[in-house]
Amino acid sequence: MDQSPDLPSCAFCRIVSAQSTTQILYHDGLVSAFRDIHPLASTHIIIVPNQHIESVNDLEAGDEQLVGHMILVAKQLAIQEGLSGHGYRLIINTGAHGGQTVFHLHLHLLGGPLARFALK
Ligand code: AMP
Ligand code: ZN
Repeated sequence: MDQSPDLPSCAFCRIVSAQSTTQILYHDGLVSAFRDIHPLASTHIIIVPNQHIESVNDLEAGDEQLVGHMILVAKQLAIQEGLSGHGYRLIINTGAHGGQTVFHLHLHLLGGPLARFALK
């Protein structure tokens, strides 16, 4: 249950709805992006759907545009962060064995020299 009618219990829903101090890097009608609070690389950005979807397990036919858009936004952010030349990693963890700790679907964008060592 939500802590209050105005405060979603999901950390990423709070960020998307601007009820968190986390700074939004990118926002449009479908997705939002912000920096990971515990970065595993010099650039570590999280891209989420604005709508609460728990994980890849909960995606349905019709979500293709959303998921494709998440990847294109990640590509755009990678360009802005100067990552395109050397490359970067895009990762979606799913479920407990997949290493998912926040159950709001998200795409990790990891870039910089440490990215290749990160297991995320
Ligand atoms: P995962 O383990 O794939 O579920 O990734 C969740 C990520 O969200 C972790 O890398 C956390 O550091 C990050 N995270 C958790 N809470 C916040 C927050 N409030 N703001 C930014 N990043 C967060
Ligand atoms: Zn959520």
